[in-house]
Formats: sequence, C-alpha cells, structure tokens
Amino acid sequence: MESIDTNRVRPARGYILIYGLSRGGTNLCAERLHGMRGVIALNETVSRLTLPGETEPHRGLAREAVAEGSLPPAKNPDGGVDYLCLNKINYSLRCHPQNWVDRIAAGDNTRVIFLVRNPFEIHRSRCDWVKRFKPQRLRWTEVEQLSRDWLEMCRAAVDLLPTGRACVMIHERTAEDRGLVVRQVRELCNDETLVDEQADIPRVCPNCGGPLDQRKRYEWDPNDWLYCAKCRTFLAGFGDYNFVRQASHEKFDRWKERSNVDDLIPSFRPWLGDAALEFFLSNNHLCEGAEKRFEQLIRSEYERHRQTPLDDILYPY
Ligand SMILES: [Zn+2]
Repeated sequence: MESIDTNRVRPARGYILIYGLSRGGTNLCAERLHGMRGVIALNETVSRLTLPGETEPHRGLAREAVAEGSLPPAKNPDGGVDYLCLNKINYSLRCHPQNWVDRIAAGDNTRVIFLVRNPFEIHRSRCDWVKRFKPQRLRWTEVEQLSRDWLEMCRAAVDLLPTGRACVMIHERTAEDRGLVVRQVRELCNDETLVDEQADIPRVCPNCGGPLDQRKRYEWDPNDWLYCAKCRTFLAGFGDYNFVRQASHEKFDRWKERSNVDDLIPSFRPWLGDAALEFFLSNNHLCEGAEKRFEQLIRSEYERHRQTPLDDILYPY
C-alpha cells in the first residue's frame, strides 16, 4: 500500500496558480477559487514563500502551511483537496521567477491563470491605495514599475499559453460574474466537476460564531462590509479584501471618467505598445471573447515579450 505523508497536503488534481499584478484583482480571483468545492486557495504570503520544488506532484505542501495559510474562511485540508491555489507567484520571494515558469512548463498537474486588468485602472488603484493607506510609500505610483510588472507577466504568458495549461482571465469581466469564473476554470483544468459553493463568503463571525450583518466602513467606499455587532469588528479577508464588495459599484465601463487618461497614454505607450493600449482604450477588455483576443494580442508580439528579462521583480510593498 502506498504510504501517505500526513504532514503534507497533496491535491488530488493539482495546482492552480495565479499570475497577476498587485491591485490587479488577484485577491478577488483567489477568493472565487476558494469558493469552489475541493479548492483551497492560499494567501499571498504563503504563495510567495512556496518554492517550485515543494510543489512536486508527489510531495504536496506542508500541512501547517495549508492550514495556516488558507484564505479566510478557513477550509479543512483533511476534507479532500482537489486543487491548491497559489496567488501572485510572479512576486515569489524564494526563487527566481524563471524557476516558476520552468516548473509550470514541466508540470502537467499545474494550471495558470494570467489575470489581466486594465493597466490604467491598476495605476489608479495603486495611487488611491498609497494615498489612503501608506502615503509615505514611493513605489506603486510610477507607471514605469507597473509597466515592467506587466511586461514580465506577458513574457511568462507567451511562454506558457502554448502549453494549453494556461489561460487569460480579465478582472473586469469576472469580478461581477461568478458563473464566468467557474466556466473559465473548468475549461482551464479540463474538469467539469468544479462547482461554486460560495465557500469564500463567511456565514458567521469567525471569532464568536455569531451572526453577521453588513454596514458601511469607509467614507469613500460605497460598499457595505461584513460586520459582527457583538465583536464590533468588520470582517476583511487577506489584503483587506471585502467579502461582499459589489462589483457593480466599480462601473468598469466608465473608467476614463476617473483617470487622467490623456496624461498617462504617453507614459504607457513605449512599454505596453500600441496594440495593448488600443485594446483597453477601446474597451475591448469588457467585451465577449476579450480573453482570447488578448491572448492573440500578446502572442502576436512574441519576440518583443520574449526579450523581456524575468529578472526585474521588486515586490511592490
Ligand atoms: Zn463576533
């Protein structure tokens, strides 16, 4: 009989890895995956500290790392895990990003989501975040840094999309549409058994077990947040994630009204190129079939992306 290492969690089907930029919607994507039956998504810290060697098909991840690093609400790693999900592996701390690309290319139990968000919106979101929460921070407010992150993601994408085990997902299209997330992940994993059981939304307070209600948290934020009246605490997920954020508040089709687009275009253009800029400026990212069109777009610039070295990652804390 095969011996089972009880110190390790070995997913029955494999790993779903999220490649995406900070403020690119990765926490939402990870929570949606966590909402599916048999999927445990790990938080960004554990994800970034995981080495490719530790994800070898027969080894799994350390049980404590899965138990402690699972996104809230916690899921039982002993309850049968089909997939483990790692988030933002492009900002890995313990290996060169190329190691991940090589690892994924070689491992037939790995799947990769390239999570794309309108770069103008990523920039606005980073600037807003810095202003609100960390005004002393210098990083994150520069188009250049975002653009380097972007090009490295495209570089990994042109390497990995041809494996058939990677796909593009677009934040603006999936944030409001849980059904689309399930369909895309089923197709990516070639697994029709994946179902959304909304396990990403807490039902009770994790502290006292009492009921939750919803209320406003920030003056600038139109969203309600989960709140425990007994503990007088708002519930937030990893990275101050709002479990009940309403994507309809984002008004994705009106992004130009909140961005100084004309000033930013000359800064983005030399990095992203004309085709990618036009894709977002024309709102193609919001349309049906946008994922395949974006894949074609970056693959059409294969040589340019292949020349981007995967060596400039500076984790933008
Ligand atoms: Zn409570």
